[in-house]
Amino acid sequence: MALVVQKYGGTSVGDLERIKNVARRALAARARGDQVVLVVSAMSGETNRLLKLVSGLTERPNEREQDVVVATGEQVSIGLVAIAIEALGGKAQSFMGHQVRIQTDSTYSKARILSVDARPIFDVLKKGAIAVVAGFQGVDQHGNTTTLGRGGSDTTGVAIAAALGATCEIYTDVDGVYTTDPNVCPQARKLDRISYEEMLELASLGAKVLQLRSVEIAMKYKVPLWVKSSFTDDPGTLVTQEDTSMEDIVVSGIALDRNDARVSIRNVPDRPGVAATLFGALDEKAISVDLIVQNTPTNGATDLTFTVGKADLVKAGDVIAKVGKQLGAGAVETDSDVAKVSIVGVGMRNHSGVAARMFRTLSAQGVNILAISTSEIRVSCLIAAKHSEAAVRALHSEFGLDAKPSNASKAKAPRGTVGSAHQAGKSGRARK
Ligand code: ADP
Ligand code: ASP
Ligand code: MG
Repeated sequence: MALVVQKYGGTSVGDLERIKNVARRALAARARGDQVVLVVSAMSGETNRLLKLVSGLTERPNEREQDVVVATGEQVSIGLVAIAIEALGGKAQSFMGHQVRIQTDSTYSKARILSVDARPIFDVLKKGAIAVVAGFQGVDQHGNTTTLGRGGSDTTGVAIAAALGATCEIYTDVDGVYTTDPNVCPQARKLDRISYEEMLELASLGAKVLQLRSVEIAMKYKVPLWVKSSFTDDPGTLVTQEDTSMEDIVVSGIALDRNDARVSIRNVPDRPGVAATLFGALDEKAISVDLIVQNTPTNGATDLTFTVGKADLVKAGDVIAKVGKQLGAGAVETDSDVAKVSIVGVGMRNHSGVAARMFRTLSAQGVNILAISTSEIRVSCLIAAKHSEAAVRALHSEFGLDAKPSNASKAKAPRGTVGSAHQAGKSGRARK
């Protein structure tokens, strides 16, 4: 008898037929003898609708109250899923985040899970029922409702699986993890397996199929993590530990992040401590910064450009305008029509010229690069949003990731057999 956490995303519970489908799938697993915990998201579009209600009132909402509003989407789903299971003759009990003490810190809208109390879930399972837990929401030490950031139900699913010692299956609208977003690049190939490390990079770079924090928790607690379709019986992709077999694949995946926005501040005084002051102020507001470019100073001043998540843009603009003024800097400019395209692969560690090849490919597409950042196993470029999809397709093809033509005609996304292509290479400095 297996203990399994099945997480269903927004599209998988998007209407009543789909909710019944989830109920049937959960009951089928139960009938096979598994103990089943469901974690469900809000119905598709619901979280956006709730956020829009909030932004219809103000650009700068009280973050505690915003979480109170957006956490409601998942409450509706868990109730409906539990009712659907019972309507089909099964037993189910729903749980809000606070009812299984999904304890988080108090960083509203992107809280981090600190602990989970699995006991109420075990009690329900012992009675032969299915536990249905709300994704995305938690409770802080003062009893305030918090939410975990967009895509946060993945993290709820994995955190509960870690607490129960269960396997976690993420059911979504694609049948696994692909070399790139199959909805952007029709040539994308499904991966049978991918290492936690590579999935971590892809998730941090915008491959929203898994929320970054969910991969971090899965890796830390060695939770076997599957990504599967809620509409087919495809085995999906296993996210797991690296093994020794490895092919010398330079780039194994491409990510596109449309959630970035650019902030530039002109005429920043060129003296020690300025960057520390600016970025320290952003950190105080829990605003994460990604790409940073500082121009060569002229006449004792320089321009500074960096990216933040779109959701943080107004806040970041406010902080930078205020601190910039104190520092005697010039105008602040923001731009949300940008996207970050990244290539990822452990093979980059022992191949040179990868970054140059990426830049050449983008230039052949007439794409201007606004900012660049690299790590040992990735290169990221900030570009205008309008070029993003063409850029991904060109890079996918340039780095040999396209599905073979014979397969490509068969299905939107044919199955790949590239498990061994996703293992770690020799360590050492990248020669990009
Ligand atoms: P859910 O609502 O089920 O949580 P999401 O929309 O959050 O689903 O995540 C699934 C989506 O992730 C897919 O529809 C796909 O467009 C996108 N995606 C981005 N990168 C990848 C990738 N490398 N492999 C698979 N899907 C990806
Ligand atoms: N409902 C939340 C969102 O739309 C959480 C999730 O779906 O994972 O981001
Ligand atoms: Mg998601």
